[in-house]
Amino acid sequence: MDDAPAEPLDRAQAEVAELLSDLIRIDTTNTGDTATGKGERVAAEWVAGKLDEVGIGSQIFESERGRASLVARIPGTDPSRPPLLVHGHLDVVPADPSEWSVHPFSGEERDGYIWGRGAVDMKDMDAMTLALVRDWARTGVRPERDIVLAYLADEEAGGTLGARWIVDTHPDLFADCTEAISEVGGFSITVRDDLRLYLVQTAEKGLAWMRLTASGRPGHGSFVHDDNAVTRLCEAVARIGSTRLPTVLTPPMRAFLDAVSEAYGVEIDPDEPEESLARLGSISRMIGAALRNTANPTMLDAGYKTNVIPGTASATVDGRFLHGQEAEFERQLAGLIGEGIQQEWIVHDQAVETTFDGPVVDAMVAALKSEDAGARPVPFTMSGGTDAKSFERLGIRCFGFSPLRLPPELDFAALFHGIDERVPVESLRFGIRVLDRFLRSA
Ligand SMILES: [Zn+2]
Repeated sequence: MDDAPAEPLDRAQAEVAELLSDLIRIDTTNTGDTATGKGERVAAEWVAGKLDEVGIGSQIFESERGRASLVARIPGTDPSRPPLLVHGHLDVVPADPSEWSVHPFSGEERDGYIWGRGAVDMKDMDAMTLALVRDWARTGVRPERDIVLAYLADEEAGGTLGARWIVDTHPDLFADCTEAISEVGGFSITVRDDLRLYLVQTAEKGLAWMRLTASGRPGHGSFVHDDNAVTRLCEAVARIGSTRLPTVLTPPMRAFLDAVSEAYGVEIDPDEPEESLARLGSISRMIGAALRNTANPTMLDAGYKTNVIPGTASATVDGRFLHGQEAEFERQLAGLIGEGIQQEWIVHDQAVETTFDGPVVDAMVAALKSEDAGARPVPFTMSGGTDAKSFERLGIRCFGFSPLRLPPELDFAALFHGIDERVPVESLRFGIRVLDRFLRSA
């Protein structure tokens, strides 16, 4: 392409698919172990090169060898306004090529989609942001506020060597940032031809991963025995796994259910919202988990021989609590765990929540509606966790806003960490137009 594109954003929309393909081809698999992880350094250097091509300087930081994160700053026209953070992670979860229709690190374009690991989580947003700021730099566009760009390592293993590390060691990079946008949100769910809900994440559940250890009297497997650690543990695990904790409607989910109720013209029973949510398709599994605290047993460990009763038995439980529900969740758990079992946290991290209001939200809503007249943005709570947990510690309001207008038939929720992860090229172009409006007006 020559140096004179006809329209603003032409270039960004033309190159975003290629940028995403290139980024997918850099295998940044994060296994949770630095020794076997790869590619984050290569990806960070690739981003630095793409920024450098258009005159944007950046800095790369390493927490451990190869675990690289990049930060850049786009100066705004009004230095009196606080900067806005746009962050994305560069790492991806593993993918087994034998399960895929295309190679997961091919970045192939097929049927109007870019295919590959990271296509929706979240190299799509990385590529959209990159394409946009490159376009701005080439055409002389400057946003009002400074934009801080962060491309981070290690999100898929909790961010210890990425967002959490950089927030702890270089908080000055994000000084004065008041809001941030990143994954998971800004995507559409089609209600009908002229109405799409756009889910903007304003909250994340907290993490409470725990180990439960039961003790008992060791003994011979052939005897009568009334103090068996395995039995005691399994009773507790069964209680936890089979109990559905009560529904709690936090502010974002109350607003979300109201919007769903209005959009579909249905009454939603707040005690049994699942039935009404089923019409949202597979996304309802993610949404349903944001209506209550959850605790799922995930691992068991006990014994070494069939005829020996062990003295201890342990299990791990993946617990998640809603914002404001931490104490209540611990009370619920204590009741389920019962006597004679020791509980310890393996990972414990706070829930985050912000309100769906203010000028930044107004700018998101306006940007979506300008590009899709049928857009109805609604807040929601994410059941999983993202790097937002780290940036929230700096007092930054965090939003999941990676705008994508999706085809109605696409099962988007299944693509996260899924097989045949892919994203429509048209959705990426839409995302760039929305981000351009949003970042220039926020
Ligand atoms: Zn992600």
